Amino acid sequence: MSRRIDTSLLPEMVKYGASDIDACFNCGSCTAICPLADNDAIFPRRLIRYAQLGMKDRLAASKDVWMCYYCGECSATCPRAAEPGEFMAAARRFAIAQYDVTGLAKLLYKSDWFNVLFTIFLTVLFSLFMISFERPAPHAQLALFTFIPEIYIRTIALTVAGIAALIGMVGLVRMIRGILREGNLSFTPGGHQRLNWPTALWNTLVVEVLGQTRYRDDECEEEQATPWPVRKWFTHATILYGFLGLFGATALDFLFKPVGSYVPLYYPMRLLGTISGILLMYGTAAALIKRLQKRDKATTYSHASDWILLILLWLAGLTGFGLELADYALLPVTWGYTMLVIHVSLVLDLFALLPISKFAHIVYRAVALFLYNLRPVEQTEESGLAPAKV
Ligand code: SF4
Ligand code: SF4
Repeated sequence: MSRRIDTSLLPEMVKYGASDIDACFNCGSCTAICPLADNDAIFPRRLIRYAQLGMKDRLAASKDVWMCYYCGECSATCPRAAEPGEFMAAARRFAIAQYDVTGLAKLLYKSDWFNVLFTIFLTVLFSLFMISFERPAPHAQLALFTFIPEIYIRTIALTVAGIAALIGMVGLVRMIRGILREGNLSFTPGGHQRLNWPTALWNTLVVEVLGQTRYRDDECEEEQATPWPVRKWFTHATILYGFLGLFGATALDFLFKPVGSYVPLYYPMRLLGTISGILLMYGTAAALIKRLQKRDKATTYSHASDWILLILLWLAGLTGFGLELADYALLPVTWGYTMLVIHVSLVLDLFALLPISKFAHIVYRAVALFLYNLRPVEQTEESGLAPAKV
């Protein structure tokens, strides 16, 4: 069966950040050197081929897009300097844009200016919305939930999170349907095999997500020579753990703290928030500095979406501590009220952008890894519990 080649995809991938990929002559060295490619996930060459042939659906529906953690080894060895590692990052942006029903992700990824202006617009919009709830508050002492009643903050947070979750769920369904349709899986979608659901869940959530095994490149000499506090896996892990901890602290707050009440710093939910905030700020600051210094292949090319996510997370952490300072260091009340408006607006911004920005990696990657780890029980018994090649 012949297939018509669509030559428009390669130039489109350039707009998503794969600016040198047209130099690729398909030698395959990148796949040979990739420490994460295996028989069940063959990349990056196969995905580059999809782009060269204009196979949009195949590219967006490949779970392999999410198997790459951008170590940069393929880019360092490519004889044509085609930057296959950067192509993989661009392919993830392309995939998110294909899953997104709103069409916003496409605009955000293709235009740096639109990305920056839209993020600023959202922050200002949320700030104005917050200020519109402002109530007369005492000037002698800080009373955050008198200034803006907490019930309003909770209502708008739940509304924004609900809309983002809906958009994200639709994206997730599109992604899973695409992966099952294209079927580069070790089981047959719709088949009658017994699948290793518990093992796949364990391997995904504990081994891969919490253990960060794919990020730990024990064979990379450059990484081994780097002090561990600034190694890639460590900074990525602190960002992830910081985010998950803050998410947990916020959820506990919603569930157990009476609306409008205050809890002291030593309360478990508050302590969890403070420790997680420190982790998040450390990880995002280290990642930002590495990108500024362009320390390796993976940080040489930074897309606007990389900067925006790190800056938003760092500022959300900073303003969170600004709020704690206002609470405990008796700073002027105007400081506390300003911090409250900026902090909540930034957090709402992050919620709103979750399904369409780089933040979406946290969900899409985990689901793709789960599908990668899902296989017939017999195969799991033959190959052991850790199918991920790390
Ligand atoms: S990206 Fe580079 S290493 Fe990979 S197939 Fe193309 S030319 Fe070869
Ligand atoms: S960046 Fe690393 S993990 Fe990603 S394709 Fe290249 S070698 Fe593989």
